[in-house]
Amino acid sequence: MTMTSSGVTTATYEELAGALRGELILPGDAGYDQARAVYNGMIDKHPAAIARCRDTADVVTCVRFCRAHEIEIAVRGGGHNAAGLGVWDGALVIDLSTLRSTTVDPQSHTVRVDPGCTWADVDHATVAFGMATPSGFLGSTGVAGLTLGGGIGYLSRRFGLTVDNLLSADVVLADGSLVTASEDSHSDLFWALRGGGGNFGIVTSFTFRCHDIGEGGTVIAGPVLYDIADTADVMRWYRELIPSLPEELDGWIAVLTIPPAPPFPEELWGRKACGIVWCYTGPHARADEVLDQVKSFGSPLLVGLHSMPFNVLQGAFDALYPAGLQWYWKADFFNEISDAAIEVHAKYGPQLPTGHSTMHMYPIDGAAARVPTDATAFAYRDGGWCGVIVGVDPDPANAERISQWARDYWQELHPHSAGGGYVNFLMEEGQDRVQASYRGNYGRLAEVKRRYDPDNTFHVNQNIRPAG
Ligand SMILES: Cc1cc2nc3c(=O)[nH]c(=O)nc-3n(C[C@H](O)[C@H](O)[C@H](O)COP(=O)(O)OP(=O)(O)OC[C@H]3O[C@@H](n4cnc5c(N)ncnc54)[C@H](O)[C@@H]3O)c2cc1C
Repeated sequence: MTMTSSGVTTATYEELAGALRGELILPGDAGYDQARAVYNGMIDKHPAAIARCRDTADVVTCVRFCRAHEIEIAVRGGGHNAAGLGVWDGALVIDLSTLRSTTVDPQSHTVRVDPGCTWADVDHATVAFGMATPSGFLGSTGVAGLTLGGGIGYLSRRFGLTVDNLLSADVVLADGSLVTASEDSHSDLFWALRGGGGNFGIVTSFTFRCHDIGEGGTVIAGPVLYDIADTADVMRWYRELIPSLPEELDGWIAVLTIPPAPPFPEELWGRKACGIVWCYTGPHARADEVLDQVKSFGSPLLVGLHSMPFNVLQGAFDALYPAGLQWYWKADFFNEISDAAIEVHAKYGPQLPTGHSTMHMYPIDGAAARVPTDATAFAYRDGGWCGVIVGVDPDPANAERISQWARDYWQELHPHSAGGGYVNFLMEEGQDRVQASYRGNYGRLAEVKRRYDPDNTFHVNQNIRPAG
């Protein structure tokens, strides 16, 4: 019998293994290194054990086991978190990643989703019925973490954030009990779950409202790219245009390097650019009228708008960004894209340190901004953008270089921001940043935390401390 990194004997973990339907993976087991790896290759955590839960009962068993033995808990959904908060040194990882079923009800326009699903799983299920629920801009991101942090994506202008479409969630609480949170049941918990992250319990099932999009789930989408030297002109035009557009059209702006692969024309491979990725989800008969203005501005290098199923759009960047790259993130919300901020973008865009590194700004307006700031825990509703600077590269030797570029860029841009950053894009940045991200909602979140998790059992997250 030996002691593990959580101070618990291996014999105790054998007891846990016997009580679970799923597999328990311990250090030294053949699959341990693979099971502790997350999307961000910079994260190198060594948990005491990883429990691959097969059902809600496994989740309850793990929570009770951790409470009884005073073991830290990490919860893994899609494993995509920027800071790698799905794994933790010395913790038991409650790993939900094999729970990936979905159930669509086309009549009621809803989808029930397991906690290990990625958005590719959900889009696959709903687009077959011409519908989608608002998610993000990538298929491989986990539903659980994205939803609990807010959820900003191609459908936000038209249908709101992901949390605005969450109808209910089943949650295993810190005492091992299971509750359903919705507008009618544990409404305080339901309020907090919609943006407050994994602070309040472990969600084992999500039910979302779906919407008909495009023509039977087919949208018109793709990038319009401009020379990096045009960044300032493009940003000035874009900031005025976005609020005036019909909500069926969403578009996020980026500085990027054009990927050296099809479908991009070879003569553009590796060229630095400023670009907007557009997605039009309205009736195709109106598409030309709506899209003409975004095709005709300036002198684009490429106009890549095509009709495609929504799930194809969502998966378009997955091959470019496979799991295991080095990622360093810096984030802020912006109420406006000021002239001073544009100067910073025009300075750092041309200095992109590697081909994968990029800066994105996602609009938070239209339906997302009509929801009052205190209606859910997600606090930045006043119209504007969610910005993120990411240094990315496959080679760990470049980790410092990409991180320094992102830090320098952020340092100069932050004074032109609204203050806080999207919790799903924060690294481990301390309590002040978490509070700034929740603004006026932080006090109420701390109260709900005290009610549902007074001992801060769930603290491997952007942590909200229990009030008092
Ligand atoms: C390449 C990339 C693209 C992204 N694009 C977008 C985007 O377009 N829009 C957007 O809004 N965000 C986006 N994100 C951010 C994303 O929302 C966060 O990284 C989110 O945390 C991912 O969720 P996950 O389940 O994959 O993460 P995980 O790493 O598994 O978990 C993240 C956090 O959530 C907690 N958690 C996970 N599952 C549960 C659960 N079932 N119950 C309770 N707590 C849980 C974890 O403990 C952890 O604190 C992107 C991230 C990446 C890496």
